[in-house]
Amino acid sequence: MKRSQLLYVAVGGVFCLAVMSLYRMLELMQGAEHQQSLEKPAGQVGEDLSRLQEKIDRLERLLYDNNQLVATLRDSLRVRKESWEKERRRGGVNVSSDSALSQADTLPGCQLATEKKDGTKGVQLLDVYDLLPFDNPDGGAWKQGFEISYNGNEWDEQPLEVFVVAHSHNDPGWLKTFDGYYQDQTRHILDNMLIKLSADARRKMIWAEISYFSKWWGELDEQKREMVRRLLKEGQLELVTGGWVMADEANSHYFALLDQLMEGHLWMQRHLGVQPSSGWAIDPFGHSPSMTYLLKGAGLQNMVIQRVHYAVKKHFAQQQTLEFLWRQNWDSSSRSDITCHMMPFYSYDVPHTCGPNPAVCCQFDFHRLPKRRVQCPWKIPPQPITEQNIKERALLLLDQYRQKSRLFSSHVLLIPLGDDFRFMESSEWDVQFDNYQKLFDYFNQHPELHVKARFGTLSDYFLTLSKRLNASGKTLPTLRGDFFTYADRDDHYWSGYFTSRPFYKRLDRTLEATLRATEILFSLTLAEMRRVHGDGRLASDFPARDHFLSLTLGRRNLALFQHHDAVTGTARDPVVVDYGTRLFHSILKLHQVLQSSAHWLLLMDKSQYSHSQSKTFLQMDETFSAQDTLPQKTKLTLSDEPRSLVIFNPTEQLRSSVISVVVDSPDARVVDAETGQPMAAQISAVWEGPNRASTEAFQLDFVAELPPLSLVVYHVTKSSVGSTHRVQYTFNSHDSSTVKSEHFQVSHLTRTEAGSPLSLSNKHIQIWSSSETGLLQKLRLQSGLVRQVQVQFLWYGTTSKSDKSGAYLFLPGPEGAQLYSYSEPPLVRVSRGPIFSDITSCFKHFTHRVRLYHLEGHAGRSVEVSNTVDIRSEVNRELVMRLVTDVSSGNLFFSDLNGFQMQQRRTLEKLPLQANFYPMSSAAFVQDTGSRLSLLSAQSQAVASLRPGELEVVLDRRLQQDDNRGLGQGVTDNKLTASLFQLLLEDRKGGAQGVGGSSVEHLSLLAHMTSLSLCHPPITMVTPSRNQMPKLRPFLPLRLSLPCDVHLLNLKTLEDPQEADTPSQEVALLLHRKGFDCSSAPQPALQCTWSTQEEVNLDDLFSPLRFRSVHRSGLTLLREHHEQESAPQQQQTHITVLRPMEISAFRVEIE
Ligand SMILES: [Zn+2]
Repeated sequence: MKRSQLLYVAVGGVFCLAVMSLYRMLELMQGAEHQQSLEKPAGQVGEDLSRLQEKIDRLERLLYDNNQLVATLRDSLRVRKESWEKERRRGGVNVSSDSALSQADTLPGCQLATEKKDGTKGVQLLDVYDLLPFDNPDGGAWKQGFEISYNGNEWDEQPLEVFVVAHSHNDPGWLKTFDGYYQDQTRHILDNMLIKLSADARRKMIWAEISYFSKWWGELDEQKREMVRRLLKEGQLELVTGGWVMADEANSHYFALLDQLMEGHLWMQRHLGVQPSSGWAIDPFGHSPSMTYLLKGAGLQNMVIQRVHYAVKKHFAQQQTLEFLWRQNWDSSSRSDITCHMMPFYSYDVPHTCGPNPAVCCQFDFHRLPKRRVQCPWKIPPQPITEQNIKERALLLLDQYRQKSRLFSSHVLLIPLGDDFRFMESSEWDVQFDNYQKLFDYFNQHPELHVKARFGTLSDYFLTLSKRLNASGKTLPTLRGDFFTYADRDDHYWSGYFTSRPFYKRLDRTLEATLRATEILFSLTLAEMRRVHGDGRLASDFPARDHFLSLTLGRRNLALFQHHDAVTGTARDPVVVDYGTRLFHSILKLHQVLQSSAHWLLLMDKSQYSHSQSKTFLQMDETFSAQDTLPQKTKLTLSDEPRSLVIFNPTEQLRSSVISVVVDSPDARVVDAETGQPMAAQISAVWEGPNRASTEAFQLDFVAELPPLSLVVYHVTKSSVGSTHRVQYTFNSHDSSTVKSEHFQVSHLTRTEAGSPLSLSNKHIQIWSSSETGLLQKLRLQSGLVRQVQVQFLWYGTTSKSDKSGAYLFLPGPEGAQLYSYSEPPLVRVSRGPIFSDITSCFKHFTHRVRLYHLEGHAGRSVEVSNTVDIRSEVNRELVMRLVTDVSSGNLFFSDLNGFQMQQRRTLEKLPLQANFYPMSSAAFVQDTGSRLSLLSAQSQAVASLRPGELEVVLDRRLQQDDNRGLGQGVTDNKLTASLFQLLLEDRKGGAQGVGGSSVEHLSLLAHMTSLSLCHPPITMVTPSRNQMPKLRPFLPLRLSLPCDVHLLNLKTLEDPQEADTPSQEVALLLHRKGFDCSSAPQPALQCTWSTQEEVNLDDLFSPLRFRSVHRSGLTLLREHHEQESAPQQQQTHITVLRPMEISAFRVEIE
């Protein structure tokens, strides 16, 4: 589009919006007049006045929104004009051509994101993948590596400095439940740790899982607690990472990753007064830079990782780059750098940590001495160290140390000593620590060996490493990218766990969204109570402490589920049930907090508030009846008396949302409780079977206008027969006579109709689907952009070789995916209504639905895709949904890492099929110069783009056998499982950027907004029927939406520093400023603002909320020591810097 046209569109946009807003204002005023004309008793004057005040507030908000929008557009015009002037002065440039228009000036704010596109410095892992042959030759003793040689004089100048780091890997649930492991193993390990470390000051150990540590701490007396504190102070015990768990890095969403880190760090600071400085992630199945970002942001300087593709390890070992500075793809500074140590060998157990030869190293795992519980599979047992054998033993070990040292650029060596649930028995401590101490003593008494060895912690190691590097003037290389998809041997790629147990991966995100919503509403409730009471008191009957305990339970159960055997779907069946029950109970508890917070906030007369556990004023519209079933809608009984619906918008954006409830009548009316204005609504059938509509339950959908973070009340009543718009149905089924739907108009496709595609459209998009299957075929945008987008379903089986797919591994057969076939075509049901229209395909194993919402704003711009899948009848099969498109994406596509950032992927033919699957927690896209097709998801699963233009996601997997990674079972506990997506096609302008290279890409603002709405749906609560209704008024905490590139990640109440389990006045404010793509500006523009500045004023963002004592902190909110001394910043305006892509954390009090 030419510059002049762009200007017209912009000006036109301003005009349209102004007209629309005026229209909306008129509507509101009419509503007001209507109210005034009603008769009213004298006593209601006060109430009316306050209603009027509400209305004025609303009008004010609308005007404000409008002004902001005009300001943004004016800003954009100014920027454009300036650049135009600049170009004109330079001369010789055809300013009206697209090429002259740099991406940076198409949208304000874009420049910030574009600047982050510098991914040039350092090694890019994608390039390493292009380089490696993946030929897997036999490396000898170090099977996946190479023969390592040395002369022996390498350490003459500077001795080898060895740190043996004792560790015990405790999974918070895997073969046993969290509590099961704790009782049987973990508490004994920690009890012995206290005794055995205290017995000898030279002994040291590290511990990672705070979930276990805090449970154990709770059982200690004060004397033992003092011993723990002393061990920490003396540096004998080090808490590493400090997360609640050692989190999975593929399926976890960054909200939960950060929350579990916060839970651990805050616990450590409160109870122990320490904070971690080194990360330790030896078992997660692949590694993500999102985790690295969070660790660095939480103040950690170093980290260790282990499960990296064996070919990548070998390459890094050859280059001596196993230690590197891990940098974010999008970061052009060194701010996000963290020192990372990659373990070189196959595993974190002793045979694979002392050096390259496991048969030798196993002899130095003294827990495997003859007659103990474990043996060496290499058939050479360890020997106790004696005076007779010490020289031979020491030299044998030193040889391994020296070989391993040759893989690193410094002479400092990290030797982990441990395994799963190690150091349990007292005698195990003795055999390990005593025998190693003898070896160390021998080394240290023989200076001619040029080796110094001792027990150490991670910090000991990294501190010495950093000193040695500084002294030698060396710097570590910089690396960008991620470590997916992990393979530990041969073609055993761990891409199965990206989807395993998808039911729980979805439940995880339901809890996450519920927790975030509850945290925010609870914090706002406490602030509002303090404001209303004036003296910092809370409402006397409000169970703030109970609610805070529920929030803590929710945080900790979500945190526990981020463990690398939990959200991964790689635990035993009973353990999965334990996790599921925890998630389920947490959701129920959080619902109670939501209900009573909303209750108090909405009451016009706060003195009417009373809390009753058994009889709550509000109930959830959607209920969960068990840990393994999908949520169910409550059927509302309607009458002439209004039934109240309370809707909470958990997003920081004003949004139009379709609210869906189930009612007992096909005739219903919804009005805005404030204005009395009727809402656009439609009635559709509740289908009890593919072609059998319920005669007792009906789905009522209406459009709600929800201001940011608001609670809004609607009234539903029964209305006169035929007054509500009913959806019209069209069926294509092999047996047309059997459709039962007495309340709805039903037609059947005629033979000629059945020959041409089905089509639905709204004002933004038109879609075409096959009339035979109902599956999508083509999309067209209003702009004219057309793309073939064919939805297919396919099966993968597993290989006939002995190693088959299981919970971790995806090992498909050589035939690849087979198209889903059916003996009878599916029943296809088309519904058309004023609020939405959709096409549902009912296949034997799944029901698939595509829906278009007839809405203004971003909700109307994408296609909602939902599936419910049931593959319980199958054996060794995996079901995928594939999009086959004509987007010319080559072998490139993009998938997200933890919902935090996008990562480029290259589909490589030299790799087996299963290696080309990647984790997707929230988004993937393919693009060419003219278009981008994004698939946004509400749950984690595996994604691939096996051929140009394709995207496929694995929906469920059912596998009968174990895949030999210790789990000892298959994955056969499948259930009816839901998955939800938004499919978004966008024009890409200025396609000159092209595709190729390891460019950094972001979602567009429209995709960010769509994803936000998808992951954080409105929460609907209802008043019980025939309830004596007190007067309610909406709760509107923000005057304006936040800028649409600023995400309110959380607003969570912190624990009182003095009083345990009690909410303090202090709240954690977490903001994530998103990077966004500029080449796909939607027309007309989105109804939100963003800024070209990094500086923002928090008070303006959250007006009319006011913050005081604002402290910027690390991402896990640890209190800095100097903070208490710093002057309170109460009177200052709270201007702060929010950088694109970065999360900012503040501890604040809400005034
Ligand atoms: Zn583990």
